[in-house]
Amino acid sequence: MAAVAPNVQPILPPAWLGVLGGGQLGRFFVIAARNMGYRVAVLDPHRDSPAGALAERHLAAEYEDRAALDELARLCQAVTTEFENVPAASLAHLAARTRVAPSAQCVAVAQDRIAEKAALLAHGFPVAPYAPITGEQDFGRLREFPAILKTARLGYDGKGQVDVARAADLAGAWQALGRVPCVLERRLALERELSVIVARGPDGESRAFAVAENRHRHGILDVSIVPARIDAALTERAREMARRLVGALGYVGVLGVEFFVVAGELYVNEIAPRPHNSGHYTLDACVTSQYAQQVRALCGLPLGDERLLSPATMVNVLGDAWRGGEPPPWQAVLAEPRAKLYLYGKAEARPGRKMAHFTVLDASPERALSVALELRARLGIGEA
Ligand code: ADP
Ligand code: MG
Repeated sequence: MAAVAPNVQPILPPAWLGVLGGGQLGRFFVIAARNMGYRVAVLDPHRDSPAGALAERHLAAEYEDRAALDELARLCQAVTTEFENVPAASLAHLAARTRVAPSAQCVAVAQDRIAEKAALLAHGFPVAPYAPITGEQDFGRLREFPAILKTARLGYDGKGQVDVARAADLAGAWQALGRVPCVLERRLALERELSVIVARGPDGESRAFAVAENRHRHGILDVSIVPARIDAALTERAREMARRLVGALGYVGVLGVEFFVVAGELYVNEIAPRPHNSGHYTLDACVTSQYAQQVRALCGLPLGDERLLSPATMVNVLGDAWRGGEPPPWQAVLAEPRAKLYLYGKAEARPGRKMAHFTVLDASPERALSVALELRARLGIGEA
């Protein structure tokens, strides 16, 4: 367990907070922070970004831009991130000048599948059988097939992954991924996919949100059902494991933990050093949202109550739902009183791009799910 810093001074509003990355996760961080009276600066190279549009300041510069990082550090009492591919060196540069959470070291672990799996194993967390692949000498290290080859870095939404049915297919798969460092992972027969959003403050206090059950489509999160349809014992194991994980990593901030359920057992798939897509439901269904929790952990405030107030189902809306440039029929969602729609303000709808989501709340979890799936169909989000 990493050292706990009990005497971190809380940062109170109207202090400035910074966030690296201007996507929708950053946008919800900006909203949560501003609701609490903080001012927010976003660093993101794109002129129009979902988070930059709502922040008091938008520094449109590259993440390696030292002058921009220095300006962010000068302005902000604390800085966090909304995506894992921020250069760890930039976080380290910031950390020498202002409070940064999560740490450069934790982000470095989460952004590299080889380091991530090694850290999980070292702390005793179950992971799928795997082998790091950094050259042909590693090809014989995993003997269990079918498998999936995943690039160690920069993969997301199923990108940077190739199926490897047999050992003989590995050379071609590695070639297809550009012969970069990878992990080769046994393909497991998944009963379910789960996620837990967990937060840990600088004083070592941690809280885990309700467990989400996630369905993916083409490698991208499609639907999150909360609470997950699993028994109480597995629910508690997942939440407890997530809390143990942030403790073991000495992590400060909000972490998304993805789990596989195989034969009733939990495996940690991957971790994300930020709020998670599957945690959007916390905006509407919890006392504290994952974004407000991110503000609290960053500022060294006591963590908020993570209690689930209502069952919920969240549906992602990707750019695929735009037909011939026309947005999907939002009135279908807006006409449903139990649904809450969030559009991220992205100008261009590209296939696979996360454009919006909606969450349906109902006291009956079955009804929340069925209404959500009906609305999803009305938006024209189809199967396969
Ligand atoms: P990403 O960073 O793209 O989210 P993941 O490793 O989470 O990468 O993989 C994306 C999806 O692919 C997972 O949510 C799961 O549906 C499937 N998947 C990944 N690894 C495995 C595995 N070892 N066995 C079975 N399915 C897998
Ligand atoms: Mg994933």
